Amino acid sequence: MFKLIVKKEFSSAHILNGHPGDCKRMHGHNWTVEAKVEGNKINKIGMVIDFKDIKNKLGEIISRLDHRYLNDVEPFKENNPTAENISKYIYKELSNNINTDNIKVSEIKLWETSNSAVIYTE
Ligand SMILES: [Zn+2]
Repeated sequence: MFKLIVKKEFSSAHILNGHPGDCKRMHGHNWTVEAKVEGNKINKIGMVIDFKDIKNKLGEIISRLDHRYLNDVEPFKENNPTAENISKYIYKELSNNINTDNIKVSEIKLWETSNSAVIYTE
């Protein structure tokens, strides 16, 4: 089994509705996303998938979130844009774009700060 990891960053603002503390006020984060993709087979040039292909697909998803107020972006108008909900969203969207018989998104790790991250997996 091969596990590939691609990392990307984005910046956005949000409010967490219902939060008892500071997070109910608008603030921003510089998020770091680590997408882990797994596969058993390599192609004839020795790759599971080109890192560039993962980066491009992940970049498309992140462009919907970068430099935005997340509470105005679907699906976060209804669901609080917490690290949990954002990591699940990226997992689902990337899986829809990348998964094949051999390739599977296995994990999204989303760093909200340099000390705090959420991992979403299924
Ligand atoms: Zn926050």
